[in-house]
Amino acid sequence: MNCPFLKEARVKYCDKSAFRKMIRIAGNVAQETCSSPRYKQCAVYGRHAEDSQDPQCPYLRESLAQYCAASAVSRFIPYSEPLLSRCGGDSYRYCDVYLGTANPPAQAAGAKRDCSVGGMRVPNWLHYSANHMWLDSAKGGSCHFGLDAFLTRVLGTVERITFLKQTGVHRPSAILTVRGVDLEVVFPNPILLTASNLYLRANPAKLTADPYGMGWLFQGVHLPGQPPVTSGLIRGEAIVPWIEREIGRMSAFLAECWNSRHGATLMNDGGVFSPDVLQHLNREETLRLFHEFFWGLRV
Ligand code: SF4
Repeated sequence: MNCPFLKEARVKYCDKSAFRKMIRIAGNVAQETCSSPRYKQCAVYGRHAEDSQDPQCPYLRESLAQYCAASAVSRFIPYSEPLLSRCGGDSYRYCDVYLGTANPPAQAAGAKRDCSVGGMRVPNWLHYSANHMWLDSAKGGSCHFGLDAFLTRVLGTVERITFLKQTGVHRPSAILTVRGVDLEVVFPNPILLTASNLYLRANPAKLTADPYGMGWLFQGVHLPGQPPVTSGLIRGEAIVPWIEREIGRMSAFLAECWNSRHGATLMNDGGVFSPDVLQHLNREETLRLFHEFFWGLRV
């Protein structure tokens, strides 16, 4: 499905100009230099003059082009240009311009729904790995990856993001630095990586503020012949019970940390952990927690 902001227009351009500037065709063009006999006064025409008798310049071309109606500056792009691959497919949902629009048009029929578990958003159309990374696999093999709300709630404030691989066939992986501790997240299945959300290096807050949108981490393509990228992942009706179990497991883990630190018994109340949980753990506890819940190769 195309981005709802992707529009089409008839444009004209000069075939002899050094820079191909496309201009939208609108209204009465008879008064324009290129479309009237005045084209003979044009310096570019003069350089290539062929003594044309045409009523409009023989170097004036017309074609169809696409443009983004949500962008502040309209840039017309021919159909053949690969720049529009994001706009002309399901990947548009991860475009900053699309996500930054105050009211993006409603998605098509079969609109996607979210659940909420313990106050955490849980989109139920995604696939999840056991270490809390999500996969959005679109028709045509294009995929996006990110961290789910459970993991980003645990992380709280991320100081730095380092992408380990940006192209080639790999398990998508990154290092997140939280309170000076480097924590590695690795998606369990390999994919042909085509892009990483490098913008997050300058603004890592987006990772936790919008984990299913602007906080996406990797983009890839599933190639025929590769093992299925969805292999071993949690999906559909299994998602909500899994998150509920994970909340219970986290609650038990934190109670155990508290007990071993204070030599006392804190009852596991089964409630949802606080969003700044890592702020209360020391380095060893942080690493143990990460290994227990977010170790990348567990499927
Ligand atoms: S640039 Fe973004 S918002 Fe604009 S048409 Fe493309 S995907 Fe849509």
